[in-house]
Amino acid sequence: MPPAIRTDDLVKEYGDVRALDGLSITVPEGSFFGLLGPNGAGKTTFINTLVGLVRKTSGTAEVFGYDVEDDYREARDAIGLAPQEYNVDRFFPIREVLMHKAGYHGVSDEEAAERAAEALETVGLDGKAETRFDWLSGGMKRRFMLARAMVTDPDLLILDEPTAGVDVELRHDLWEVIRGLNDDGTTILLTTHYIEEAERLCDEVAIIDSGRKVTVATPDQLTERGTDEVTLTLDA
Ligand code: ATP
Repeated sequence: MPPAIRTDDLVKEYGDVRALDGLSITVPEGSFFGLLGPNGAGKTTFINTLVGLVRKTSGTAEVFGYDVEDDYREARDAIGLAPQEYNVDRFFPIREVLMHKAGYHGVSDEEAAERAAEALETVGLDGKAETRFDWLSGGMKRRFMLARAMVTDPDLLILDEPTAGVDVELRHDLWEVIRGLNDDGTTILLTTHYIEEAERLCDEVAIIDSGRKVTVATPDQLTERGTDEVTLTLDA
């Protein structure tokens, strides 16, 4: 079985800006992998390349062995994404938004309804099923983004700062949900600015800066080292 993510010498240039500068990263299937780095390090660009939102300049990027550009459909079908920006349909109750999403992935109406209900329950939003996204509180919006990412039952869940700006209690709730998904076999790629989040959740962490890999280590190794690499993320 190929790794969940494999990039080799991946480069993305926006004009003069080299957002990814030869990034080679492997995320084993089933792992919980953290991507850390300061603002502008290239984390979101890396994710957007994997899901096909931006075209790479050069190098290789594969998801479960599928090239993210040549085999776009297969690669994209394997991924559930919770992006940093909210890009949610605001005109329908959140239950319907989830059903539409599941429907795109080819499941029946009945199964889409089941999956939507299950995803809402998992994140603790079952009581809000008929509410529109805009009417949710900030914390509920974060919960919903996670529900939307998981509703297609993806093999790889990509979470771009899923707990940014939420209070400690909700952060811990979300950690429980995400950990449960990983325990059930879903590979997780998580970006975060919170070193504690990486320590609590991740098997392995890559630290990147200026589009380059600084190190790959277990959270324990990072803590033991107490290196500049950790400072780099704490400063972010
Ligand atoms: P943050 O932690 O702030 O979200 P990040 O690690 O996700 O940052 P990116 O958003 O990937 O970093 O940005 C990497 C670099 O690419 C930055 O210098 C950014 O200004 C630049 N960049 C990102 N998107 C674009 C774009 N669409 N056009 C031009 N430059 C871009």
